[in-house]
Amino acid sequence: MKRRRRLNIKHCIIFAGGCLTIIVLLVMSIQFLIGLFTHEDVNANIEPPIVEQQAKPTVVIDPGHGGYDNGAVSYNGILEKDIDLTVAKKIKSALEYYGVNVIMTREDDNVPWPDDNVADLRGRSAIANASNASYFVSLHCNSTDLAGEVKGSEIYVYFDDAKAMALSDAVNAQLQKIDGLPNREPKDASVNLLQLLMENEIPSIIVEMGFLTDNEEADFLMSDDGQNQLSMAIVKGLLHELGIAME
Ligand SMILES: [Zn+2]
Repeated sequence: MKRRRRLNIKHCIIFAGGCLTIIVLLVMSIQFLIGLFTHEDVNANIEPPIVEQQAKPTVVIDPGHGGYDNGAVSYNGILEKDIDLTVAKKIKSALEYYGVNVIMTREDDNVPWPDDNVADLRGRSAIANASNASYFVSLHCNSTDLAGEVKGSEIYVYFDDAKAMALSDAVNAQLQKIDGLPNREPKDASVNLLQLLMENEIPSIIVEMGFLTDNEEADFLMSDDGQNQLSMAIVKGLLHELGIAME
């Protein structure tokens, strides 16, 4: 009997030991699996934004004038600075839809630079040069003393800046498609010395969208349809140069 009891105790100890080993292995497996999933979750939270930030191109959009400076004025008192800002906002929202990061030199009629034309343009160039952006696009409406005789869109660009010139060609190709808007062809900025383009260190173009001094063209520039067509022409040109396909 004594021997049998001893055997039973021995079996119990072996059985208990076996159970303990299984429990320990189970706990370790569960901990390993939890660790595995937790690790994956952490990665899932960190990785996508990093990839997105690296891939996102940046463009600076510069609505001309603003604040103290009205720019040109239409026959019925509409200010160029307001048209430039409205078109800029349309460009910004369309570009953001396609994953482009947009920096505006001004978001409204408040301007961060002093009431002085040289300091004004220098303020815009400072934003461009600090932006690390791929392109800078300045928006304007043209004016002339020969009111009613001159109309159409034109772009100012350095002809010897290959990247800026490619953007100018891409935007101009889209502007040419707008019905009723004559095309005055891109103009070489090295002939028409413009402070903004001289001080900008990134590929830059100035788009003169049309003449506010021509009443018919003023109606086009002031209309929502005209502003949509102009903004989409510039967006399409930019997306083309950024290598982003439109849906
Ligand atoms: Zn202007």
